Amino acid sequence: MLTYEEARRRVIEQVEKGAGAPRVERVRILHALGRVLAQQVKADRAYPPFDRSTRDGYAVRAEEAGPGATLRCVGEIKAGDAVRSVLAPGTCVQIMTGAAVPCGGDAVVMIEFTKREGDAVRFERPARAGQNIVPRGSEGAAGQTVLNPGMRMGYAEMALAAQVGAADLQCFAKPRVAILSTGDEVVDIGETPGEFQIRNSNSVSLAAQARLAGAEPVLLGNAADRTEELQAKISEGLKADVLVLSGGVSMGKYDLVEAVLKALGAEFYFDAVAMRPGKPAVFGRCGETFVFGLPGNPVSTIVTFELFATAAIDLLSGTSARPLPLVRARLSQTLDEKPGLAHFLPARIEGRGAEMRAAPLKWQSSGDLGALAWANGFIVVPPEKHRIEAGADVEVLLRRDLL
Ligand code: AMP
Ligand code: MG
Repeated sequence: MLTYEEARRRVIEQVEKGAGAPRVERVRILHALGRVLAQQVKADRAYPPFDRSTRDGYAVRAEEAGPGATLRCVGEIKAGDAVRSVLAPGTCVQIMTGAAVPCGGDAVVMIEFTKREGDAVRFERPARAGQNIVPRGSEGAAGQTVLNPGMRMGYAEMALAAQVGAADLQCFAKPRVAILSTGDEVVDIGETPGEFQIRNSNSVSLAAQARLAGAEPVLLGNAADRTEELQAKISEGLKADVLVLSGGVSMGKYDLVEAVLKALGAEFYFDAVAMRPGKPAVFGRCGETFVFGLPGNPVSTIVTFELFATAAIDLLSGTSARPLPLVRARLSQTLDEKPGLAHFLPARIEGRGAEMRAAPLKWQSSGDLGALAWANGFIVVPPEKHRIEAGADVEVLLRRDLL
């Protein structure tokens, strides 16, 4: 059986090999958060566009503004002022942060290190040429590429695009992820379940996870555990870029998902992973669509989506697969788990850096969403190391939605 790392690598391999180039669409900059860029963005002019003062103070010729020197102040320049005149020898000019340094001036002395009486400004410290000035073009030349295709637009990238005037951006279309839950016992969240029925919480967590991963979820509801109904709804799901199914992939008599997919022509790249929860997870392809069959237990569904489906969504978004948010933490209590499988245990992670601690939460196995709502991560117990002593260093998978 594959380890979860091998299974994830297999997802990446297959999607890299089999995915076509995503569609490109125009996105308004304010809506570009999380989108993957499909174009280069270039600087429209030099940055900064003028020699910019980074302090409130006096623009001077550095060699004239040594300790004890006095210069006559001949005016002031505020941010946004047009600056055309040359700073005459023996003078200084009051200048504000963000304003252009006049020609002839080569340093800005902070106001805190000066004394002013009328027009006379006295300097207290040595001035160095270039101090408190960002020269024109030093952040970037006009025409220089500042953002490249494949980059994900975060707040910094958005601000940079805004700075150079790129109000519309060519971005890759978000992959469409169809979400279909399965099970005779599952009812829609708007319905009142019968005594032996449960609400479809998986479609809700999967939709949230798909959105967070950068995809557009397409909710297909639930299919009963019957071949014809599964076939019809799965066929609908195969119109999307990715189909994520929950439930129906275990060994039970009514776990029909794999058989139905096979009958529809699916090819499987794995059909079990050495992990708990999540062991029955399957991954394959049916026509052009990548298919994840995730076990129906809510925590299994959540963990397997995070480990496997997120990588496929990244790649189908036109960028590389982001690494899993794994960190190290100190275990707060001894663990003893079944060997041979990697375990993902809901945990509370506290502290930071070398002081990070992970406390496993009490849970009633992989159906326990209540425990998960208290968890901000999962302790990863590797398959070969079932017993881990309190105080040991463990790996923790952080919940991406809480980062
Ligand atoms: P299965 O993987 O189909 O064997 O289901 C495993 C467990 O997950 C069962 O207890 C199901 O009732 C539960 N389950 C299956 N589908 C869902 C769903 N959509 N929402 C919440 N729980 C589910
Ligand atoms: Mg089921």
